[in-house]
Amino acid sequence: MAEHSLNNLINVAYLVASVLFILGLKGLTHPRTAVRGNLLGALGMFVAIVATLFYKEVVSFELIIVGVIVGGLIGAVFAIKIEMTAMPQMVALFNGFGGAASVFVAGAELVKTDDPVTMGMQALIAIAISGIIGAVTFWGSMVAFGKLQGVVVPDHPVRYPGEQIVKVILLLASIALSVLLVMEPTHADYYWYITIIASVLGILLVIAIGGADMPVVIALLNSYSGLAAAATGFVLNNNVLIIAGSLVGASGLILTNIMCVAMNRSLANVLFGGFGEIQETASSDDVYGGKVKSTSAEELAMLMDGIQRVVIVPGYGMAVAQAQHAVRDLYNLLESRGVNVEFAIHPVAGRMPGHMNVLLAEADIPYDKLIEMDDINSTMDTVDVAIVLGANDVVNPVARTDPNSPIAGMPIIDVDKARTVVIIKRSLSPGFAGIPNPLFAADNALMFFGDGKKAIQQLISALKEG
Ligand code: NDP
Repeated sequence: MAEHSLNNLINVAYLVASVLFILGLKGLTHPRTAVRGNLLGALGMFVAIVATLFYKEVVSFELIIVGVIVGGLIGAVFAIKIEMTAMPQMVALFNGFGGAASVFVAGAELVKTDDPVTMGMQALIAIAISGIIGAVTFWGSMVAFGKLQGVVVPDHPVRYPGEQIVKVILLLASIALSVLLVMEPTHADYYWYITIIASVLGILLVIAIGGADMPVVIALLNSYSGLAAAATGFVLNNNVLIIAGSLVGASGLILTNIMCVAMNRSLANVLFGGFGEIQETASSDDVYGGKVKSTSAEELAMLMDGIQRVVIVPGYGMAVAQAQHAVRDLYNLLESRGVNVEFAIHPVAGRMPGHMNVLLAEADIPYDKLIEMDDINSTMDTVDVAIVLGANDVVNPVARTDPNSPIAGMPIIDVDKARTVVIIKRSLSPGFAGIPNPLFAADNALMFFGDGKKAIQQLISALKEG
């Protein structure tokens, strides 16, 4: 086939793949269509890969097959082995790999071209951008991984005098080197200096941020990995990479914004890494001392006799306890007795966006019973019993009252406004933000200490016996 018509065919396939990506993203916006969306996205990627194999410069099919097998195996092992609760670390790691791939692909293009001057200004600028964003993404993601996994890097923000100036200098240095590279493209060494400086920048950007703010950072790094891929698309003149990279970049940015709002951070705050400072907060003795009332399954069963409306607020502890199926049984039992049961979903409950939705969907809780925070808060004062299951930060009223708290201003689910709040957790230990929760000592609160799954099972037995 003539090269020209082959290229046309490849571009048509890329267009089809891009449409599939967009339809996939659209599907992922609702739990009902999410599985189909995921499949459409995967199909788009398959089409894109097959089309790329016909590209004129593909030299070694053997290497590609080895890459597919090794990459596929690593992906499959991760998908099977990684616990739901460790998802953010995994996302961080994969974002990082995307950034590293952009650095190497752009670098390889530069090195393999006999006379880089012929590459043209657009490709050279794109190479420099791939190097900067890719290296920031890789090292930033590695630090984020370390913070979340509790390895190598400290969880708390690492601060030092003049840190913002150091970061600005590094950014300017990498831009200056990029200009030099575009002017003298035969100096491939400039490219590697760019990536070294950007690597240090990536480390410094993320190391200054506390573990509690990592979700926002990971969403942002996800966006960066897309931008790096899009830049590499310009280097390779590959349309599908430009489109897919831009989609990841844009959706990552949208997610970052949603997370910022949910955690009360401004985007500028995230970009300059100036948040996440640990503040002085009240000690747990002051907050809890003699004020906490604990309860039992039997007492709760009596309390729940004749009630009309229950709201369950799941959090990270539900994921740890894998209590979602027991929760479904409780839901079925209460609904069969005429109680209206709803689930209040906080956007950052758990350890990844949509964490609670995924777990509850897995347990076949109807989607229309999952109510978003803003919608449920306005009716919280008509709730008879709010059951907080392994959630802590997302129901901590300190967010409303203490401007010095690390979660100050974060919107919360107003369970304290329900007639009675039952909190199921194993102890009075803090949640992710590491601060006490005055809700546990509130007049209308009862603590039901125990593992989330066992506690719900005990409650079901007590309700059946009662
Ligand atoms: P928290 O981390 O605030 O609290 C979880 C609580 O679950 C703990 O206090 C713990 O108490 C309890 N718990 C743990 N294991 C069990 C168990 N087996 N049974 C019962 N309870 C258990 O969770 P939230 O969901 O309220 O808040 C999420 C936090 O995580 C927020 O601060 C958010 O910013 C952050 N975050 C969110 C991400 C996201 O994208 N969703 C990503 C990363 C962080 P105890 O030990 O006493 O049982």
